[in-house]
Amino acid sequence: MERNESIMTESLSVTENVPILDGYDVVVCGAGSAGLGAAVAAARAGARTLLVEQLGHLGGMATSANIGCFCDSPAGPVYAELIERLQSLDAGHWVPKPPRYHAPGRMPYHGETLKLVAMDMVHGAGADVMLTTVVDSPYMLDSAVAGVFVANKGGRALVKANVVIDATADADVAAGAGAEVMKGDPDDGRLQHVNFRFTLDNVDIELFKRDGPARDELIAMLQEAHKDGRIRVPANIFRPHPKTFPWDTLSEELSTGYFEIEHVDASDPIAVNRTLCECHLATLDIIRFCRENLPGYEKCRVNPIQSILGTRESRRIMGGYVLAGADVINAHKFDDGIARASFWIDHHDSPPGITMPHTIEHIVSTRPAEGDWYEIPYRCLVPKGVRGLLVAGRCISCDRDAQASMRIMPTCMYTGTAAGIAAAMAGNMGVRPDELDGREVRRQIENMG
Ligand SMILES: Cc1cc2nc3c(=O)[nH]c(=O)nc-3n(C[C@H](O)[C@H](O)[C@H](O)COP(=O)(O)OP(=O)(O)OC[C@H]3O[C@@H](n4cnc5c(N)ncnc54)[C@H](O)[C@@H]3O)c2cc1C
Repeated sequence: MERNESIMTESLSVTENVPILDGYDVVVCGAGSAGLGAAVAAARAGARTLLVEQLGHLGGMATSANIGCFCDSPAGPVYAELIERLQSLDAGHWVPKPPRYHAPGRMPYHGETLKLVAMDMVHGAGADVMLTTVVDSPYMLDSAVAGVFVANKGGRALVKANVVIDATADADVAAGAGAEVMKGDPDDGRLQHVNFRFTLDNVDIELFKRDGPARDELIAMLQEAHKDGRIRVPANIFRPHPKTFPWDTLSEELSTGYFEIEHVDASDPIAVNRTLCECHLATLDIIRFCRENLPGYEKCRVNPIQSILGTRESRRIMGGYVLAGADVINAHKFDDGIARASFWIDHHDSPPGITMPHTIEHIVSTRPAEGDWYEIPYRCLVPKGVRGLLVAGRCISCDRDAQASMRIMPTCMYTGTAAGIAAAMAGNMGVRPDELDGREVRRQIENMG
């Protein structure tokens, strides 16, 4: 499968001598929820599939950003199997909470087990996996994406494929191929907050409840420590109030914390790097603060911290259709609807951005009714003007409101599943993804059950 060859890349207009892997029909870039759905579906549909991931394990934000819970939405066959497998290992369970959550509810899961189950599913489907490998740029041939350049400890290589699926969450491949992309608010470019979560263990919560400061007193102590520099918080932290600094709103305890940070563009490596560094320093300061000031926390430690920044939005492609917030609220169906979803429009921003009350009234008024859903058309996965490429996950073609609903992991996995099936179909039929009839893709997915 591997050979060394000099190639002329249209994108870079230089000649490179790189190893070439050319046995694949489909290469999936990024192994988050969307990439997993894509790799499993494409391989099961008979396509020779390679899944490329920059981290050392699968799952994306689901396993690397302390998310820990699948939101409530319909999600397709790959997701259905994944949660069944997690449940069989006591690594996931439904939490029904009507009317806040649609039936059957949300599913908290065990992230470390998810890494392993995901690998088993991808492996069992017959896809190859290339971990610790960054997708560097698209390989363009005759003005179409015909593979990707990857980089790892072995250097650079070219992976050729009939179809590339961009599941990088930031539309890295699409942007590199010159696709039209949108980012943030059309007026001022602002983006939803990014997030960094951590959990403290080795804590005697009973002792803290008995002898520790009351909630308001603790918040005042934290704010004091912030003011006098004992806790160095990230530069653009969203106001350090108890929901964000660092407080577990579910247990009302300082055992899980998270920082919400404004104005970070996840497609800007300098901003991401700075934010991650700041979050690490802040977390260490919080540990010191807790050990020195809080009964029960004298020996606290931090549990695994995130290896990627919790990112809600960055680039979105411009496709043949731009899914809109109104489509979400009106439960719009499409002839080429390839994924169903029903989550509400959930913005996390601060004034003058889009702010919203996270009340049940707001939730119910910005999503389809219980038992109903909206659909995502196949056209949202096909970037305008770029051939050979499909996009899945939170960077598909949609406006900010629709993205604030469809970004949840079950829906990202559903779009990935559809992209995988479409990529395999395109290969079988000898056509490009943009030449496929989205209604036929829909039929194939319905046949999967
Ligand atoms: C704070 C926060 C809380 C959230 N809470 C929930 C929740 O409770 N429930 C829920 O369902 N959703 C939640 N979400 C949303 C959800 O986690 C994400 O929107 C979703 O994971 C996006 O899936 P994805 O597959 O598109 O991208 P990701 O999961 O981000 O996966 C992208 C993958 O691509 C890899 N990658 C990126 N670029 C490259 C490259 N160039 N080369 C190789 N690999 C690359 C990354 O390492 C990653 O593994 C939350 C999001 C945030 C930020």
